[in-house]
Parts: sequence; structure tokens; C-alpha cells
Amino acid sequence: MATKLIYKTKVDYGEFSTKYSLRLYKGCGHGCRYCYVRRMFRKKYSDWIKAEPYLPKNEYMKQLEKDVEKINPNDGVLISFTTDCYQPIEMKLRYMPEILKLFNEYDVRTVILTKSSNVLRDLDLLSRMSNVAVGITITTTDITEKRRWEPHSPGPRVRIATVKQLYNHNIPVWISVEPILDDTWPYIVLRTKDYAQYYIFGKLNYFRTYTTAEWIVIGHEIKRLCKDYGLKYYIKPPLSELMKSAIVY
Ligand code: SF4
Repeated sequence: MATKLIYKTKVDYGEFSTKYSLRLYKGCGHGCRYCYVRRMFRKKYSDWIKAEPYLPKNEYMKQLEKDVEKINPNDGVLISFTTDCYQPIEMKLRYMPEILKLFNEYDVRTVILTKSSNVLRDLDLLSRMSNVAVGITITTTDITEKRRWEPHSPGPRVRIATVKQLYNHNIPVWISVEPILDDTWPYIVLRTKDYAQYYIFGKLNYFRTYTTAEWIVIGHEIKRLCKDYGLKYYIKPPLSELMKSAIVY
């Protein structure tokens, strides 16, 4: 029997949390060095970046429709926590246009999360959807840091241009600043604040880039900056949990 593609998730994304997420590709060609999913699946880096689909497209779409019929569309599906749905292989295999058409037909609240400008290929489809929001992950504006941590995905300039394009096509867009890689996070906010309607911030786990005290200060600086510009935002645990543990003036 085919594996179910839509599964329940508890990942907390503030206003963009969904009850469900979607399996799409095994592995991810973006090959981020900090990728927790690769660690979770205990994959070697060289195997992880050779992504492949869960099922051949026909079989996948049949199974997906069965799954969609069983859920409440208002509960929402986030695509995807375990891969990037617009990584390079998607440009060849083109699963996303079929998925978006199906989700639109069933009026599924759809939340996309990607690091790639490839999402712009589906602009027409996305602009026709009644219930979609696209999250673009931007973790640094420093191209050298980007190359170090996220070697095979588009750079910050391209991601920011993608945010503007989505906005110009009236597609709700939000920014995932997770994981924060360096001190450029305020520039991410300043360069996107006129286009994005929501921000999610999260710390880098498992790598010691900042001390605990520094993370706490960063958390409070985020609060201040977002408050100053009247931006809607959400700080994810464990950073928000750390912030509760100390007062920073
Ligand atoms: S884009 Fe996401 S799933 Fe892909 S390698 Fe990077 S962190 Fe992992």
C-alpha cells in the first residue's frame, strides 16, 4: 500500500501553522549544512542532495487526492518541512503545478516554504489560488555566509527579489528568518518589510555561532525592531524559551 503523503505536524509557525504537512521529495538538492531533516533521516550528505520523489507522479497524484479528500481543507497543509518543494529537481519533474491545481480544486489552505526563486515559475497558478501564502526563507544577506551554509540554493539578493515579485502579483508572502546565521538579520527585515506580511524567527541549533546570552539579546533586538516598524512576527522556541529565562534591557 502506498505511503500516506499528507501527515499531521506539530511544527509551530505562528499564524502560518498548519495541521498537516506534505511528503514530496526524499532528500534535498539545496544541501544546507545545518539541515536537521538530513540528520533526522540519518542520510549521508552525498545521498541527501540526490533528491528523489516519494512516488512516480501518476501514483503520487492519485494517492494525494485520496489524502486530500480525508482532511478538512481549512486545517491547512504546509509544503514542506522535510524537503524544499522548489529545489532544482522540481524544475525537471514538475510535481508542484499538479499539487497546486489539486489543492486549489479542494480549496485547501496552502502554505509554501522555500528558499528558491523557482517558485516564480508557478506565479500564474499561485495568483489564481484563493487560499495560499508563500514563505521565503532568508537566513543572511551575506553571500559568503550563504555559500558556506546553504551551498546550492539561490543567494539573498535573488530571494529578496522573489519576495517582491510575489508581492507584485498579490500573493501573500511571509519570511522565515530561520535559522538566523549572522548579524545581518535586521537587513533582511529592512529590505523586505514593505512586501512581507509576517516574519518567523528561529535560532541555529546544534552549531555554536552565538552564546546563549547573545541569542537572548538577539531575541530582544528582534522584538524591538519589529515593534518599531509595526511588523507582525513570531519568535519560535527554543529562542523564545531562552528569552523567558533572562531580562535584557
Ligand atoms: S532547504 Fe531545507 S530540507 Fe533542503 S537541505 Fe536546506 S534545510 Fe534541508
